[in-house]
Amino acid sequence: MYTSFFDVFSIGIGPSSSHTMGPMRAAARFVQLLRDRGLLFRVARVRVHLYGSLALTGEGHGTPSAIAYGLMGLDAESMEGPPPVPDPLLLGGERPVPFRIADHIIAEREQSLPEHPNGLHFRALDADETSLCEQVYFSIGGGAVKSREEMQLPEAPKMVSADLWEFHSCRELMEICMREGVSIARLARHNETRLRSAPELDARIRQVAKVMNSAIDRGTTSTGILPGALRMPRRAPQIYARLEDRFRRNETDALTIIDWINLWAFAVAEENAAGGRVVTAPTMGSAGVLPAVLRYYERYGCKDSPFSAETGTDILLLTASAICSLYRANASISGAEVGCQGEVGVACSMAAAGLAAAMGGSNQQVENAAEIAMEHNLGLTCDPVCGLVQVPCIERNAIGAVKAVNAARLAMRGDGSHFVSLDSVIATMYETGRHLHRNYRETSLAGLAKNAPAC
Ligand code: SF4
Repeated sequence: MYTSFFDVFSIGIGPSSSHTMGPMRAAARFVQLLRDRGLLFRVARVRVHLYGSLALTGEGHGTPSAIAYGLMGLDAESMEGPPPVPDPLLLGGERPVPFRIADHIIAEREQSLPEHPNGLHFRALDADETSLCEQVYFSIGGGAVKSREEMQLPEAPKMVSADLWEFHSCRELMEICMREGVSIARLARHNETRLRSAPELDARIRQVAKVMNSAIDRGTTSTGILPGALRMPRRAPQIYARLEDRFRRNETDALTIIDWINLWAFAVAEENAAGGRVVTAPTMGSAGVLPAVLRYYERYGCKDSPFSAETGTDILLLTASAICSLYRANASISGAEVGCQGEVGVACSMAAAGLAAAMGGSNQQVENAAEIAMEHNLGLTCDPVCGLVQVPCIERNAIGAVKAVNAARLAMRGDGSHFVSLDSVIATMYETGRHLHRNYRETSLAGLAKNAPAC
């Protein structure tokens, strides 16, 4: 099941694709439902019930405000940061309704819906408190949303084209590449250009790279305290100042490059934690990994690459997108479903594959890089302290980025042959995630959230 580059990489405001962007999209869909049914101007009040992980960690992840933005009809892609939530708010930009988060969003902390750990139940009421319309949605990861009815349906093909090179596993992906004599990035480009023009695709690749790089640049210089009870100071500007100081003094050492990768990942992860504009790669919690590896490639890697910096960037992002497709089809990118394996683990795997491809790696070396990166993230839990996307998330992005570079380098030192296939690792990741106790899947009920309590 091929997932398009346009669906893998969404642009929006942090801190979480499943807990911020998904609920915002769900709210927007509910408003559209009201509009379609001619009910919008009869609505006097909207109530939203949150279930599972959204109920337990939604507050720290900005879920209530995101729902309000969706109800207001704001566009996540063009927002620069989180605006205040007005009361009353304009439902769909047209219908004023009272809205106080404390009264109108109810976290059902003891309940989870059977279909998925991230459930939202929307209900619109008229002036007599009679229910006009209700709908249940699920935020299934990476900002994607399904209604309860859609959860029951077999997965519909996202892209329909007779000319599409469709694959369901890495084995099939590699077979197509061999049959057609193309790289993984070329396969992704072929698929994308069956459904939209090449200039449209190229413009989107440039836009994604630009938003990633802008997040690095903003995060490198922005100081202050991150939102939330932890009162965590931003660390990226300090790392940057120290690196610049050492550079001026000519004090660089052999591992300085790791400090730079850490800095770039911190910068984006802190921007995300502050509600800034980032790219889901594959999620917002893991949004720092791929930009850090991309900047590493642009700054250092492309000198040894057979491609120009621009071509290498295209190859890196298209390859990463195709690898993400495999995880979305055969596992999950939702921390609430499979733990952080599905977020930083998948980001690490995508970035390692993309870097290996941009460095001129064969398809086998690219698969090897993706497989190494995930193999050493297996079992990674999600236990954010205070329900915020800060600890361990920000450091974890840096560790994930460095691990991705290492995985790509390991793969490039071999000839592409490897013992464990990427399909086996993806299956293992999903199975491990399903076996993880619920407390370690974005509920903040155990792990670091319990043993390093700070709120
Ligand atoms: S621990 Fe990982 S999966 Fe959980 S919120 Fe943080 S980045 Fe996301």
